[in-house]
Amino acid sequence: MLKTVSEALILAESELKDAFPEAKREGLYILGYALGWPITKLIAYPDYTLTEAEYSFFTSVLQRRKVGEPFAYIKKSKSFWDLELELDASVLIPRPETELLIETILSIDLSENAKLLDLGTGSGAIAISLAAHQPDWTISATDMSERALGVAKKNADNYQLQNIHFQLGNWYEGIVDKFDVIVSNPPYISPDSEYLKLGDVRFEPITALVSAKNGLADLEHIILNAPKHIKLDGYLLVEHGYDQSERVKELFSQAGFTDIQTLQDIQGLDRVTFGRYPSL
Ligand code: GLN
Repeated sequence: MLKTVSEALILAESELKDAFPEAKREGLYILGYALGWPITKLIAYPDYTLTEAEYSFFTSVLQRRKVGEPFAYIKKSKSFWDLELELDASVLIPRPETELLIETILSIDLSENAKLLDLGTGSGAIAISLAAHQPDWTISATDMSERALGVAKKNADNYQLQNIHFQLGNWYEGIVDKFDVIVSNPPYISPDSEYLKLGDVRFEPITALVSAKNGLADLEHIILNAPKHIKLDGYLLVEHGYDQSERVKELFSQAGFTDIQTLQDIQGLDRVTFGRYPSL
């Protein structure tokens, strides 16, 4: 039996209500995506009857969401900064809190033709935002996943960016240059964290989320090896867990950084630490 928009929304809400506190809103997103309509149009046309093809696509999307698949993977895209990025399940879904890294880098007084390195670029969110904003900067972006680099390159192509170089490798592997800025949003969740058992993260690549040593192993590697790859007076910025700032600051100081600062994300949680590698 064919359904109208309002009937489809009622169905979505009842299917999703056990799994999602915001079932009504999830339903609007799903139906809007299935029809290719903005949400305002769903509200304006409650009596529109879905065609058979529309209804069957809608129910297939609804079932995927019901078992928890992130909407960004279903839609294969996510907005970040002022971009719309293509995605698949080989990359972490960009988070709004990661925009703090972009804001901070753009607020530093860097030379016009600065060279930046983004470690573990994933979808390319950080590298592409920076490259698009500052066409005279040159960005190198690495990832150990060939599939992830494919996603990042596609995104860079979509924005016709020529100032990013992608390189396959684990963190600094294969990096010979020195940079004005090194930035990374590495995995930083502890392997035994309960957080991994809930919500969208269950569908994300574990290598982009989890790190040994209570979530600190990759941060430690990135911070302690940064001096070999950073220019004098250059900056290192990392994203980290809300409870990791003390340990991260210690690592920055152990590596020889000065002017070390932690910044809070939009929820008021410690999220980004940065420091300068001093010219003596
Ligand atoms: N920020 C991620 C999360 O909250 C954790 C992993 C990461 O971004 N590096 O799920």
